[in-house]
Amino acid sequence: MSEETKCRCLNCLERFPVQPNVKEATCPHCNIKYRISWPWPGQPKVRGLAK
Ligand SMILES: [Zn+2]
Repeated sequence: MSEETKCRCLNCLERFPVQPNVKEATCPHCNIKYRISWPWPGQPKVRGLAK
């Protein structure tokens, strides 16, 4: 599967690609680091800010 997984940034509301199964990802638009969860495989969701 080569489909990009994307997450919506809570700050700028842009969608940005995240690597599969990562626990943290940074929005390239505003450089904010988020914790990512995976309620379903291939479907990332922002959980909140990473510390
Ligand atoms: Zn952003």
